[in-house]
Amino acid sequence: MNRKDSKEQKYLIIDSTAIIHVISKEDFSDENTTLVFPEIIRNEIQSFQAEAVFETLKADNRLIFSIPTSKSIEKVESMAEKTCDVVSLSETDLQVIAIALDFPNSTVVSDDNAIQNVCFYLEIPIKSYSFKIRTARRYFWKCTVCGQKYKTKQNKCIECGSPTTRLFVKKKLS
Ligand SMILES: [Zn+2]
Repeated sequence: MNRKDSKEQKYLIIDSTAIIHVISKEDFSDENTTLVFPEIIRNEIQSFQAEAVFETLKADNRLIFSIPTSKSIEKVESMAEKTCDVVSLSETDLQVIAIALDFPNSTVVSDDNAIQNVCFYLEIPIKSYSFKIRTARRYFWKCTVCGQKYKTKQNKCIECGSPTTRLFVKKKLS
């Protein structure tokens, strides 16, 4: 009767800055929730292995390590260029977001500004404990002559060939 329905599996992709909050505040009673960490922080996670909750999750196969697909990494990098977060994201940060693209029903758990911003534009649900962004922002490019706007980088306007200028767009989050 406790057979897990794969359709109901939920994945929490954990950013390393959020681990301590996850341990102390997360409710693990939902047995369909699995924690996912990037493989590259496996050693970092070792220091938390002694935590009783992690022992239990590991025994239940609800704590896994994953390597993101290169397709997802590319998608995240491309979005991070547009949101101006590319310099703020570490390799681990990129991987956390990419893994969220790889798993269905995933939520990224992070208090990091740049991670949250990129997730917003990739439509990845975010859970945070101590910090939540209030505005999302990304770049757009606008022709200095005809005013045509572009979501991706354009050095010259496709319509009229004039130079473009890079601008911000901000979106207030509820
Ligand atoms: Zn133009």
